[in-house]
Amino acid sequence: PPELEAAKRRVLKETFGFDEFRPGQEPVVDTLLAGRDVLAVMPTGAGKSLCYQAPALTKGGLAVVVSPLIALMDDQVAGLRLNGVCAEAIHSGRSREENVASWRRVASGEARFVYMAPERLMTERMLSALGRLPVALIAIDEAHCISQWGHSFRSEYLTLGRLKEALPGAPIAALTATADDGTRADILDKLFGGRAKVFVSGFDRPNISIGVTEKADVGAAIERFVAARPGLSGVIYRISRKKVEETAARLKAAGVKAFAYHAGMEASERAAAQETFLAESGVVMVATVAFGMGIDKSDVRYVLHGDAPGSLEAYYQEIGRAGRDGAPAEALMFYGLEDIRTRRRFIDEQDADPERKRVEARRLDALVGFCETISCRRQALLAYFGEASGPCGNCDTCLDPPEVVDGTRDARLLLSL
Ligand code: ADP
Ligand code: MG
Ligand code: ZN
Repeated sequence: PPELEAAKRRVLKETFGFDEFRPGQEPVVDTLLAGRDVLAVMPTGAGKSLCYQAPALTKGGLAVVVSPLIALMDDQVAGLRLNGVCAEAIHSGRSREENVASWRRVASGEARFVYMAPERLMTERMLSALGRLPVALIAIDEAHCISQWGHSFRSEYLTLGRLKEALPGAPIAALTATADDGTRADILDKLFGGRAKVFVSGFDRPNISIGVTEKADVGAAIERFVAARPGLSGVIYRISRKKVEETAARLKAAGVKAFAYHAGMEASERAAAQETFLAESGVVMVATVAFGMGIDKSDVRYVLHGDAPGSLEAYYQEIGRAGRDGAPAEALMFYGLEDIRTRRRFIDEQDADPERKRVEARRLDALVGFCETISCRRQALLAYFGEASGPCGNCDTCLDPPEVVDGTRDARLLLSL
């Protein structure tokens, strides 16, 4: 309906100050406005909060938001208040009096959002109190916490399986950045009995050109790559501490302002390297996977993988540190079968249960598939995360299509002799 459409636009502009939805947000908003349950999968920073906040404000009534961490709740509440929206968090980090005052604003209808942990929501008392209020929508943030498969399982999240039954009137929005297929199916199953609309989007980072190149004398190749981009900030991932040290030393000898970064270094040394990298431009960080979590530097112009990463998830996370400012950036991986063999050996020699090993072997196969693809590489990457797309025009296979060798021709020639 046009009034709803206009109200939605008004909320976007007047409350949040945005002119446009980002790709992928609007279908989620519309589905929730239509009263249907949604699982939205979008990477960190893509804008998942708006996907439930906009429809809640458009509809009117109260939105109940489940979040696993006090810090996350407080951040969201502070953000909404900055935009002039009355929002409350009820959690164990606040005094009883503060929580009571918050609940009063919820019960009176003044508050439009209430944030709480699952164990507080899923009590008979809370559910029946909420049952008497006009709950417009329920949002479950970090919804992957319900999955035992993932690394951030929280047993309290399992109780949310009863939520649909307990508050049947309100649509539920489950939000997560976890791209993995199995985790997603698990969330759907546990929260919605398998029935909800699933949206996957926002994984594309079109300003990052992506490429994979054959690995041969990688030390020299890295040095050439860096030398051709003087003054630019970059990150180079290597598989081991030893290789990190070697590569950093080589670049330093070539006059590049490069630092090594790995878990075997003194914490103070690591912190100093990281600070310089963040504060200055033109610094090259040579690192193991230990580097990058929570690093927010906007002008990283390239990310190199001197060795194959462990999975496409890891690869995606790591290249995502390039080009945060939206300006052109490069991601280049040096790919050799020896690395894949090493990775396979890691998996085989692990002391883990067979199911886990199978999952990891499958992930490695997906990485190999990505490296060997002869069609658009970005399309292959996005497809792995469940996001459909066309040829990108900004990857090595789009820009320089590989020649397809027709093996059958030679075979036919041989047979015809
Ligand atoms: P996520 O939960 O997916 O990690 P957030 O919801 O925290 O991401 O949003 C990340 C940032 O994107 C926030 O600063 C938010 O204000 C901004 N953002 C969200 N939607 C839009 C939009 N439509 N236009 C511009 N900025 C947006
Ligand atoms: Mg979020
Ligand atoms: Zn492409």
